[in-house]
Amino acid sequence: MRTVLLDRDGVVTINRKYNVKSPAELCLIPGAANAIARLNRERVAVALCTNQPEVDEGIIRKCELDAIHHALQTMLARHDAWIDLILCCTDNFHSERRKPSPGMLFEAMRHLGAKSADTPFIGDQPSDLEAAANAHCRPILVRTGLGRLTERGSIPQYARPAAIYDDLSSFVEACCH
Ligand SMILES: [Mg+2]
Repeated sequence: MRTVLLDRDGVVTINRKYNVKSPAELCLIPGAANAIARLNRERVAVALCTNQPEVDEGIIRKCELDAIHHALQTMLARHDAWIDLILCCTDNFHSERRKPSPGMLFEAMRHLGAKSADTPFIGDQPSDLEAAANAHCRPILVRTGLGRLTERGSIPQYARPAAIYDDLSSFVEACCH
């Protein structure tokens, strides 16, 4: 495993009812920063692939989203962790980049020189699992964020998770021992 692709909300940061609209609303899921630091030390590239349609919807501006991601990297840096690539899809309509479409995941793998068969995409919603399957990545579900709901709900057969972990930390612990 050379590359790990991550959803943001519900995997790295705590979900907000109306999404994260400012750096002040940003809160890391316990253990996520240390898990990312471990991946960094193991020289596994880490990319975020996040849908942020609130930009198209006019709820936040792109520069505010950039400020949120800058703040995220600063918070991670306190744990000696960093994300190598942050991709976001700001479309509020069906597009090639918006999950469950695979465009953003392909873009991340292209940028990082990753092969899909060797690359997990870790998310908490059915659209993450579908995007992973559509990109021929390993769909991994975590129980943080909306993950428990997803686990109990209906997931299309083709996007069934290859594995389910309690959180990002458990995934990293299992994969980097
Ligand atoms: Mg999510």
